Amino acid sequence: MADLVRPARRGLMLILSSPSGAGKSTLTRTLSQKETNLDLSVSVTTRARRPSEIEGVHYHFIERDLFDGLRQRDELLESAEVHGNGYGTPRKPVEEALKAGRDVLFDIDYQGTQQILEKARDDVVAIFILPPSMAELRSRLVRRAEDAPEVIAKRLANARDEIARWSVYDYVIINDDLGAAYESVRAILVAERLKRARATGMASFVEQLLEEQTV
Ligand code: 5GP
Repeated sequence: MADLVRPARRGLMLILSSPSGAGKSTLTRTLSQKETNLDLSVSVTTRARRPSEIEGVHYHFIERDLFDGLRQRDELLESAEVHGNGYGTPRKPVEEALKAGRDVLFDIDYQGTQQILEKARDDVVAIFILPPSMAELRSRLVRRAEDAPEVIAKRLANARDEIARWSVYDYVIINDDLGAAYESVRAILVAERLKRARATGMASFVEQLLEEQTV
């Protein structure tokens, strides 16, 4: 049996957005640990590090001057102000991963999603995670107990604005149960990876298939 050359695939950008506390951080971490060929984009932020967070893993924690410089030099693929802090996606690691045919996972808000969609619609798969209720969202933020009460209040007020942007996204998942939400995200990733439009070498693969002698 002939070994046919398998079609190459362009890397895709998988964006997960949700208000803080809807479970997105756990989902992105689980995905990036369990999935192969999926790089997690580590953002830069000017906000203070939470006790559980690790520099270079959850974020690159940087000063405002450095953040503004990155933005001015166009070294960020997208950037936004969220809860009074600057957040942005370093451009280089994303471009390198996509070029090498790896997919990239982003945990960013709707402002960043809109910017990336405007630049590369065909390469983006955008998912929005909704909490089952506002009461549940609040109790998850309180249970996390990593933010001061005034910060939690600010995040809840912002959650309403973020939820109102749900229609920017390709897929919407209500996170009642983390395991089920994870399976939904994975199903989307598996299907999107198989899309014909992403398989750059499929035409020549099919050509080889049809040339193969079967008798
Ligand atoms: P947190 O401070 O809770 O880690 O994140 C606050 C919000 O900022 C979340 O909605 C998160 O998705 C968003 N965020 C994190 N990194 C980025 C980024 O690089 N760009 C944009 N636009 N949003 C980000």
